[in-house]
Amino acid sequence: MKQVFGVAPNGAPIDLYTLANPAGMRVQITNYGGIVTSLLVPDRKGRPGDVVLGFDRIDGYLKKHPYFGAICGRYANRIACGCFTLAGAEYTLARNDGHNHLHGGVLGFDKMVWKAAELAPMGGAALWLAYSSPAGDEGYPGKLDVVVTYTLADGKELRIDYLATTDAETVLNLTHHGYFNLADGGKSEVLGHEVTIEAARFLPVDAALIPTGELRDVRGTPMDFTRATSIGARIDAAHEQLVHGRGYDHTWVVNGAPGQLRLAARVFEPTSGRVMEVLTTEPGVQFYTGNFLDGTLTGKDGAVYRRRHGLCLECQHFPDSPNQPQFPSTVLKPGQRYTQTTVYRFSVA
Ligand code: BGC
Repeated sequence: MKQVFGVAPNGAPIDLYTLANPAGMRVQITNYGGIVTSLLVPDRKGRPGDVVLGFDRIDGYLKKHPYFGAICGRYANRIACGCFTLAGAEYTLARNDGHNHLHGGVLGFDKMVWKAAELAPMGGAALWLAYSSPAGDEGYPGKLDVVVTYTLADGKELRIDYLATTDAETVLNLTHHGYFNLADGGKSEVLGHEVTIEAARFLPVDAALIPTGELRDVRGTPMDFTRATSIGARIDAAHEQLVHGRGYDHTWVVNGAPGQLRLAARVFEPTSGRVMEVLTTEPGVQFYTGNFLDGTLTGKDGAVYRRRHGLCLECQHFPDSPNQPQFPSTVLKPGQRYTQTTVYRFSVA
């Protein structure tokens, strides 16, 4: 189902699409930024509740906000100094996060109006979104054609499939930037959520959140989520990495082979009983605990989004890969296809 949601600054109409499944889930997605604006998931008593942060109306999304529910690109996460060298040429991008580039720049994919079409695949409902980013967009080389398909499968999962092609060598790193709060959609802190991350290593960062290049063992550190641990248990520990992140704001190296859809993380919220599993083909997952939320934004149902009221599990390549040749490559060449699949799967316990 499609309804009018608003008008973009350039006059383009913006719509809101609703997909529902027989398991009691409902997702609403706008073609502005590919943003998931609401996601209803039943709790252990079968009562549906919204589990993502966001706004009721388009106005909230047209103002500055921290990428609630959006598709980030061309390069999600940070590129140091907003510069990189590719095939002998130097490129300069916007520095929109201190000295660094973040989430694709000033006018990233999160602020674009995408083409949209509703699909009816077997076993679910889907929304197809397409955007063609011209050569030079935000400083990136090559024309990049991107398709993102959100599928609400009947089996209580939201699946995101990405596809991209280019006409000239370029770099990219796409992700979905949903903020989850499985208790109440963001009215309270997420510190009681219990998290498992399927990763033996994480990427330490400097004070500006740029990876140092090391892949560090999580053992014996507050970054060890190999066993379910509440977010609040160690988040304020006196550990250099938690100081740099102001909490958790790091990439974990997902165990197993990139390219294969495998479990990356599991989140359990004890009061509602909701469980969210995150599966991905990507090499990494950025676990961010909403440390920069500061109560200045009020969202759906009057919720005030204070520090740590939401958590992100953004499946992606490693930050700053264009400048760190030892990281898995984020280069896309003409004739190649970039693909990614990430699944947010829900249940109760
Ligand atoms: C980053 C955070 C940032 C947030 C909002 C996350 O992906 O890791 O550092 O504050 O996005 O931009």
